[in-house]
Amino acid sequence: MTLLVQKFGGTSVGNIERIKAVAKRIALCKEAGHELVVVVSAMGNSTDELTNLALSVSKNPPSREMDMLLSTGEQVTISLLSIALNELGISATSMTGSQVGIITESAHGKARILEIKTDRIKELLKNGHVVVVAGFQGTSLGTSKTAEITTLGRGGSDTSAVALATALKADSCEIYTDVPGVLTTDPRKVADAQLMTTVTCDEMLELASLGAAVLHPRAVEIARNYGIPLVVRSSWDNQPGTTLTSKEKRSLGKEGLELSKPVNSIELVEKQSVIGLSHIPDQPGIAADLFETLSEGGINVDLIIQSTHQGNSNDITFTIAEEDLKRTKLLCQKLIQRLGGNLTIQEKMSKLSIRGAGIMGRPGIAAKFFETLSKSGINLRLIATSEVKVSCVINAESGNKGLRYVSEAFDLKDKQIKINPTNICNGEPEVRGVALDPNQVQLSVINIPDIPGSAAILCQSFADEGICLHTIVQSERKYESNGKIISFTMNKDDRKNADDILIPLLKVWPQAYLEDGKAIARISAVGAGMPVSIGTAGRMFRALANANINILMIATSEIRTTCIVAENDGIKALKEVHKFFKLASK
Ligand code: ADP
Ligand code: ASP
Ligand code: MG
Repeated sequence: MTLLVQKFGGTSVGNIERIKAVAKRIALCKEAGHELVVVVSAMGNSTDELTNLALSVSKNPPSREMDMLLSTGEQVTISLLSIALNELGISATSMTGSQVGIITESAHGKARILEIKTDRIKELLKNGHVVVVAGFQGTSLGTSKTAEITTLGRGGSDTSAVALATALKADSCEIYTDVPGVLTTDPRKVADAQLMTTVTCDEMLELASLGAAVLHPRAVEIARNYGIPLVVRSSWDNQPGTTLTSKEKRSLGKEGLELSKPVNSIELVEKQSVIGLSHIPDQPGIAADLFETLSEGGINVDLIIQSTHQGNSNDITFTIAEEDLKRTKLLCQKLIQRLGGNLTIQEKMSKLSIRGAGIMGRPGIAAKFFETLSKSGINLRLIATSEVKVSCVINAESGNKGLRYVSEAFDLKDKQIKINPTNICNGEPEVRGVALDPNQVQLSVINIPDIPGSAAILCQSFADEGICLHTIVQSERKYESNGKIISFTMNKDDRKNADDILIPLLKVWPQAYLEDGKAIARISAVGAGMPVSIGTAGRMFRALANANINILMIATSEIRTTCIVAENDGIKALKEVHKFFKLASK
């Protein structure tokens, strides 16, 4: 007998007809001999409606009361679905998060799951019941040990389902939704998006946190870490949908289900060179020209960074392997002769990276990484961040010291330390999918001191308030008194709290000042084959240049390339990049 956890999202249970259809589907599955735990969301848009009710009473409702209110949405669905199942002759019992014993942190509105008690569910399953669990909610024991209702964050029912599958050691977790599975991009934005039959959890983690809202990123994180077989399917038909794959398989530890160590390994890649092109024209097509030229020359570029431009010129920085330096230098010199600008080369550099799942979703991790390096007196030449990897480029002579201190800080064992690992790709495509995130704002701190610790202080100050900085980019250009610019993006909702953090910080750096960027959209291409493909980034830049879209910022990481463009260009950029990588015609 197989134990399945099935989750049905808001649209799938959006009205009574849909609830009856879902009940029929569950009944068939039960009759086929499976044990079933079903997780449901609130019906249709009811979480939005409840939120609006609260906002009509207060602009700033207390988070405890919001959790009390929002958790009622799921409670309506569990009871109606259980009634519908019993009507079909299937014994079903509904349970709230606290009845199950889904124990969470006390952070209202974004609580992470610590533990799930399984006794009551197991007992009901043994007696032949289908157990219908309210998604998105749990209970915290708080400091005073009084139970409080918590919610996991919008879209969190996916996380409830995968966490339950982990705690119950289910054979599979199936997420039923209103699309056929995970598509190459959001079908509401690009009509000819295609179904992916498989996607790796790392790719999905990047996509989900970059705007592909089909799965809650934390659900993917849990599936990845515990190796839970996860499928995304349509609740309207019987097609197989998308299977997510993961190579990890840890067992539940004492740290808490969602709190298990987020950093799996550390890597040092030696013999790197940093190439800086500064004061090159700020116009569509320049980045495309540069990286196409390098790719035609067979040069595999690793990290690429372009920070906010100043005036009408841009600076682009990238890293390559030292063995490609001579050829890269010649190609760049030719380009500079044509375009103008300056070329700077730094040899004897190393790249130090931490790898894991959900790194940027936990703001303290990147901050701790940067802080550990700065406390060791190591200056960060470049920073590249993503959900699955954060990298810093540092002087080669600091490599071993950095490796040692960071391994200690994250309690990593010898087998988790990798020196000059080779990129392994199992035939995954260079671009699996593209995502657009219109919910970010961009900020820059200008003339921040170029000394070890600036980036660390900045990230730590935001992390202390639970704010994640998403794209973090350090400029090349130096300002008065040797200052530099650090630009970053954050969720729009977090902007209102940013001044409280930045104003005291700017007092520490009296010469520095803050600048809000114009309205932006983040467009990202993700593919596990990207590290072994030459020229992916150049192709993405070409797609944008062909559509006459100017790139405001570039930030790449191992399996993704992200460009920040003007908000108005977002949808056009998404369509062009999707078409350019032939994602629609596979
Ligand atoms: P549910 O209510 O079932 O949880 P969601 O609205 O949270 O459903 O997620 C499904 C929606 O995610 C789809 O309707 C689609 O518009 C959106 N979406 C965004 N990116 C993607 C993608 N890459 N693949 C599939 N759907 C996507
Ligand atoms: N009902 C919650 C929401 O709308 C949780 C979920 O649907 O996953 O965000
Ligand atoms: Mg959802």
